[in-house]
Amino acid sequence: MRKVMMAGNWKMHKSNAELEEFFGAFVKEANLTKESTSRVDIMFALPYTLLANGHKIAEQHGICIASQNMDSNESGAFTGEISASMLKDIGICATLIGHSERRQYYNETDDSVAKKVAAAQKAGIQAVACVGELLDDRESGATNQVVTRQVSAFLDAIDTLDNVVIAYEPVWAIGTGKTATPEMAQEVHALIRSIVQAKFGEDAANKVQILYGGSAKPSNIDELLAQPDIDGGLVGGASLKPLDFAKMVQSGLK
Ligand code: PEP
Repeated sequence: MRKVMMAGNWKMHKSNAELEEFFGAFVKEANLTKESTSRVDIMFALPYTLLANGHKIAEQHGICIASQNMDSNESGAFTGEISASMLKDIGICATLIGHSERRQYYNETDDSVAKKVAAAQKAGIQAVACVGELLDDRESGATNQVVTRQVSAFLDAIDTLDNVVIAYEPVWAIGTGKTATPEMAQEVHALIRSIVQAKFGEDAANKVQILYGGSAKPSNIDELLAQPDIDGGLVGGASLKPLDFAKMVQSGLK
């Protein structure tokens, strides 16, 4: 049985004062206890400026604070970048890698994603590797081909799936209010699990958490989580609202 993961992606939102306000409300609304946080993985991918403070606040509740990106190099002359070991140094346990906004606006490629997943794993940071097709891909029937290419690229760069989570996020559903139907999402999640199985075997495929992202919210999360291969959500907009995200965490506990 895989544990559900509910991961929020705050993108470029909120100040430290807003972070503190959010967590005060969220912890209360989600009614977090040691028992509940042992049954659902809760993660927030925060902007760099909130990471240290976020970790300090979240640690006591068993919540993982993640970055939204990292560099694949360990150290060196890479102005403006942050490495996996630097994230680890301040207690950060995970990072998103290859979010579609990074692919779209910052020239992230399958190759750079593969290098970052390998670097995160080497440093002991959990990698949440993001994949997903564009609207054109979906409409032209290329979804499976695109997702297979994206997943295979980073699987080829690692030897095990330890500390790797995969997030399937159809780009046309991110921030648009359009969600993939549970059946559409399930089909791609099953495909991803079969790619993992072909490369790393049945045990690894049964273990890996595959999250759905794309306008997930309290009103649709239950039907998404009811699908056999959907193990949680990567949530943008709804994770900015403490009550909404608390409800989604409660769905993960059902
Ligand atoms: C995301 O940022 O990964 C995302 C899925 O955003 P939203 O939930 O707002 O569509």
